[in-house]
Amino acid sequence: MATLLVTGIGELVTNDPFADGAGPAPVHLLRDAAVVVEHGRFAWVGAAADAPAADTALDLGGRAVVPGFVDAHAHLVFGGDRAAEFEARMSGTAYAAGGIRTTVAATRASSDEALQANASRLVAEMRRQGTTTVEIKSGYGLTVHDEARALAVAATLTPEVTYLGAHVVAPEFADDPAGYVDLVTGPMLDACAPHARWVDVFCERGAFDGHAARAILRAGAARGLKVRVHANQLGEGDGVQVAAECGAVSADHCTHLTDADVAALRDASVVATLLPGAEFSTRSPYPDARRLLAAGVTVALATDCNPGSSYTSSMPFCIALAVREMRMTPAEALWSATAGGAASLARDDVGVVRVGARADLAVLDAPSFVHLAYRPGVPLVAGVVAGGVPEPALAR
Ligand SMILES: [Zn+2]
Repeated sequence: MATLLVTGIGELVTNDPFADGAGPAPVHLLRDAAVVVEHGRFAWVGAAADAPAADTALDLGGRAVVPGFVDAHAHLVFGGDRAAEFEARMSGTAYAAGGIRTTVAATRASSDEALQANASRLVAEMRRQGTTTVEIKSGYGLTVHDEARALAVAATLTPEVTYLGAHVVAPEFADDPAGYVDLVTGPMLDACAPHARWVDVFCERGAFDGHAARAILRAGAARGLKVRVHANQLGEGDGVQVAAECGAVSADHCTHLTDADVAALRDASVVATLLPGAEFSTRSPYPDARRLLAAGVTVALATDCNPGSSYTSSMPFCIALAVREMRMTPAEALWSATAGGAASLARDDVGVVRVGARADLAVLDAPSFVHLAYRPGVPLVAGVVAGGVPEPALAR
C-alpha cells in the first residue's frame, strides 16, 4: 500500500495529550507539522522538518488542520421538511415533540430511493463542512417496516446506526402507548437490531416516561445494542437518571439538569452530548456547558440534524454556538466536536490525530482552529482527508 505524506500543516490539532505539542487545553497543537498515512491510518505524526519519505505528498500550504468532526447525533433518514413549522415557531408558536409526527407521515410516504437520496445528500453536506464520522438514527417510520428500512439506509452511510423506534408513540397507538412499547421491544427490535449498533429513546414529556424508557433500553441492550438517550431536552425529567442506570454511553441534549443529574452523569461516566443547534432553532435556553465541565463530565457537541428542531448539518456552526452562547472556549468546543464526539460513540480511533487512528482530517482555509468560532457562518473547510484519502479539492 502506498504511503501519503501530508505536509505544510501550519497548525495541527491532535487532541493527543501524549504528543509533543502544547497549546490550549484540551486540544494540543503541533506547528509546522506533517503526517504520514498508510492503510487509511496515521503511520507517523510530527514536525514537517522530521517527516520521513513517502510515495506521494500533499502540501497544504500552511493551513490549519483539525481531526475530522465526529457528529454523534443526527436524524438523516426522513421525507419532507418542516420549514412551515419553523416559520410559525419564529412567529411565536412553541415547539412540541408532536411535530415529529409530521415527518413520520412524510417519511412513510417516501420511497426507499427518496430516503436514500436525501440522507446521502445530507451526509455529503456534512462532509463539505468537515464531518468524517456521523451517527444516524431511525425514528420517523414507527412501524416495523419503516424503521427497518430507515436503518438499512443509514447502514449504507455509516457504521454508527441507531435504532430510535421510541422517538414518539406511533399515531396508530395514541390510545395504547403500552402496546407501542411492546412493539418497539418486540417485533420492531427483531427487525431493526441486525442493522444497528445503538438503541435510543426520547425520554421526555410527550414521548416516553422513565418506566417505558428503561424497558426499551434494556430490551435493546439485551440484544447487544449500546445505549444512548435523548434526555432532559425540554424540561427536567427522568432521562439522565435512566441513562445512568441503563449503562448509556451518552445522554443527549442535557438542557435541563438538576444537581443530581450532573452528579449521575459524572459518576456513571455518561458523556453529555450537547446539541446547541436545537436550542438555536427553537429559540430556547442553552445547556449549561460550564456547569458540566466544572463537574468533570465529558462533553460532546453534535448537530442533531433533523427537519424539525435543528436543520443544520454544520459542526463549525455548533462550535460557534458553543463558544458564543455556552461560554465554552474555542479549544473546549473543538475538542467536544472531535474527541468528545468519539467518546459519545465509544470510539477511540476517530477524533484524534495519533499513530494508529483513522486518518480523518478537516483542512481549514484559516491559520488556526480558533477561526471556526471566530468566523461563524463562513465556509472554512477546504476539504477533508477521510480514511487516508484526500478530497481532490485539496490537491492544488
Ligand atoms: Zn435527536
